[in-house]
Amino acid sequence: MTKSQQSDAFSAEKEIISLRSRLDRYTYEYYVLDNPTVSDIEFDNLLKQLEVLENRYPQFYSPTSPTQRVGGQINKDFPQVTHAYPMLSLANTYNTEEIKEFVTRAEELLGVNNTEWVCELKYDGLAVSLLYENGQLVRAATRGNGITGDDVTSNIKTIRSVPLKLQGKDYPNRFEIRGEVIFPRKEFEEFNKRRIENGEEPFANPRNAASGSLKLQDPQQTARRKLDCYLYYIIGDGINIPTHNERLQKAQSWGFKTGNYRTVARNIDQIMQFIDTWNVKRHDLDFDIDGIVIKLNNTEYWNVLGATAKSPRWATAYKFKAEQAQSKLTDVEYQVGRTGIVTPVANFTPVWLAGTRVKRATLNNANQMYKLDLCYGDTLVIEKGGEIIPKIVECRHDEAMLQGNTLQIVNFIKQCPVCGAELVKEEDMSGWYCPNYNHCPPQILGRFQHFISKKAMNIESLGGEKMRYLLYSKKVTDFASLYGLTAEQLIGTYEIDDVHKLSIQQKGAENIITALEKSKQVPFERVLYALGLRYIGEVGAKTLARHFENIDNLINADVESLLNVEDIGQTTAKSIFDYFHNGENLSQIEKLRNIGLQFEVKKQQTNNVLQGKTFVVSGTFSRFSREGIKKAIEDNGGKSVSGLSSKTSYLIAGEKMGPEKKKKALALNIPIITEEEFLSLIN
Ligand code: NAD
Repeated sequence: MTKSQQSDAFSAEKEIISLRSRLDRYTYEYYVLDNPTVSDIEFDNLLKQLEVLENRYPQFYSPTSPTQRVGGQINKDFPQVTHAYPMLSLANTYNTEEIKEFVTRAEELLGVNNTEWVCELKYDGLAVSLLYENGQLVRAATRGNGITGDDVTSNIKTIRSVPLKLQGKDYPNRFEIRGEVIFPRKEFEEFNKRRIENGEEPFANPRNAASGSLKLQDPQQTARRKLDCYLYYIIGDGINIPTHNERLQKAQSWGFKTGNYRTVARNIDQIMQFIDTWNVKRHDLDFDIDGIVIKLNNTEYWNVLGATAKSPRWATAYKFKAEQAQSKLTDVEYQVGRTGIVTPVANFTPVWLAGTRVKRATLNNANQMYKLDLCYGDTLVIEKGGEIIPKIVECRHDEAMLQGNTLQIVNFIKQCPVCGAELVKEEDMSGWYCPNYNHCPPQILGRFQHFISKKAMNIESLGGEKMRYLLYSKKVTDFASLYGLTAEQLIGTYEIDDVHKLSIQQKGAENIITALEKSKQVPFERVLYALGLRYIGEVGAKTLARHFENIDNLINADVESLLNVEDIGQTTAKSIFDYFHNGENLSQIEKLRNIGLQFEVKKQQTNNVLQGKTFVVSGTFSRFSREGIKKAIEDNGGKSVSGLSSKTSYLIAGEKMGPEKKKKALALNIPIITEEEFLSLIN
C-alpha cells in the first residue's frame, strides 16, 4: 500500500467511526427516546455515505455497524419474544431511477420479464407481528432488533381494529400477520395539543407517538390514545395462497384491516404512476405514510430471491421527501394559553408549502427554541411535519452576521407578554408559565372559552368570540355571572374591532339561555374539567370525580391522598391542592353550587342486567383496571366478591390469571369467561 493509500484508509476509518457513532446516537434517539433530532432523509443520507465507505474499505467491516442491523431496539421492561421468522426492514430509496433498477435486477435474477408488483402505502408507524392460533390472537410483538422483540400483547389488544377472534373458517391454524401500528393524524393532533396544554413535551410526529404508546406499561393509557393498525404481510408454514395480493384479500375477509389503496402493477410505468399519485394524494389521508412499498406478487419468487441480513430482496420502499421550504424569520411572538403556559411562535415571510401558504410555526417551548439555536436574521427551513402542521427543522444563521460576530440568539422572554408578570419555570416540565392566574387577560378568556366548550359545559351556542365580547364588556365577570344573563341582555350588535361586528338575535340569545340551563345537568366530572385546573384534562377530571365522588372530598384532600389517585403525580397533586386552597376559586365553586351545577357523582343508573349474579375477577385486563371491572359489575347490578364458592356465577379471567383460581373454578364447575365475553354480557 502506498503512503497516500494508507493516509486515505486512515481518514476513511476515522470517517467510518464518526458516522457509526452519529448514526447510533440518532438511532437511539429515534427508537428508544422516540425523539428524533434529525430528519429521516438526513439519517438515510448518512447511512448511505457509511455504506459506500464500508464497501470501499471492507477491512473496517463490523457486525455491529448500523449498516448491518435492523434499526429498532428492545425494551427490557417487557417480556421478550424471539421471532419465528426474523422481522426485517426494507431497502429504501428516495430516487425513482433506483426503483426501476431494482425491478430490472429482480427480473434478471428470476430470469423472467413479466413480473407483477403489489404497490402498497408505506404506513409510517411501528412494525408489529401478531400471532394467531386457531383463529385467536395469542401474542403480539414489536420488531425490536429483528430477532427479538417486546411482547406487547396487552397494548395491542386495546386497538379496536385488531381482531381478537377471526371471522370465517379458512384461516391457517397458526400464522403470523405483520403490520404497522399508527396514530391517526386527528387523534395525534388532539393528543399533542393536550400535552402542550399540560406543559409536556409534544411528540415530534405520529410515528414516534405510536411507538411511545406501545411502550406504556399500562394498557389503559394505551387504549386512550386511539391507535390503529394496518396489516400487510402474512407469514407461516403451509400458507397455500400463491400471491401476496390474494393473501391480503383473505386477511381482510378474516377481519384484518389491510387498507384500501394497493394496486397490482404489471410494469414499471404502472409502479411509477402509483408512486406519483400517492406523492400528491397522501396529504388527503387521515394517517401518515412515508412512501410506497413494492413487493413481488408471486410469493414463490420470495423464496427464490431470499433476503440480506437487513431486508428482503423481493421488496423495496420508495420514500417520499418531506416537503420543505425556506423563509426568513421576521419575529418571535409569544402566546399565553388558558393555563398560563407561554408558547413561542416563529413568524416568517409567507411561503408555499405542500399546497398551503404558511407564515408561522410553533416553536413549542423554550427548550425546543434553544435546541434549534434560533438567532435573529436566520433563514428557517420549514417542513410539513405529519404533512399538516408546519415545523421548523433547521435554522441557518445569516452568513454576514456570523462573519461579523453580530449574531444574536433569540432569548425566551422573562415576563408575560400580556400582563407583564414574571414567568415561572414549571417543575419537571419544559414550559414556562405566567403565574398571574386570576388577572392575566388571555388566561381568563381561555378559561371561559374552555368552560363553555363542548366537552366541558357544552354552551357552544355562545362561542368563543361572543364570550370574548361578554368578558371585555364586563357583562360577565366570573363563571357564575354567566348564569345570571337574560336573553334581553344578550340581544344586540357589537363591534369586536374596526372591521368585525357580531350580532346576537332573539333566537340566538334564547339558545344560549337554554344551553346554560341545560348545562346544570352536566355531570360532576365534566364540571370539574370545565373549571380548568392546570394538568387536569378530561381523563384526569373523570378519575378525580370517581375517586372523590364529590367536590367537598376533593377540596379537603391533602397532597398525600391526591397522590393515591391513579395517574396523579407530585406536580399535579400539588397544583390541585393549591387550586382548592385559593379563596377566589372556592367562592366561585360555592356560587356555582348554589346555581345548581353538579358537584357530586350521581349514582349511575344501573341497567341491572347482572342482577343476582356474583363475579370473581382474576388477572389483568386490557380495557379495565381491576377496580374498573369491579365497578362495571356493580354498575350493571352484579356483585363482585373476592373468593370463589359454589354460589359464584362467573370467573372473569384476565391475562396471567391465578392458576389456583382456575383450578378451583373448574372443580366447582363455574363458567370461566374472558373480558370480551363479560363486555358482551353487559352490552
Ligand atoms: P423503514 O421505515 O425505512 O421501512 C421498513 C419498514 O416499513 C418495515 O419494517 C415496516 O415496519 C414498514 N412498513 C410500512 N408499510 C409497509 C408495507 N406496506 N409493507 C411492508 N413494510 C411496511 O425502515 P425501518 O427499519 O423501520 O426504519 C429505518 C428508517 O427509520 C430509516 O431509514 C430512517 O428513515 C428512519 N430513522 C430515522 C432516524 C432519525 O433520527 N430521523 C433514526 C433512525 C431511523
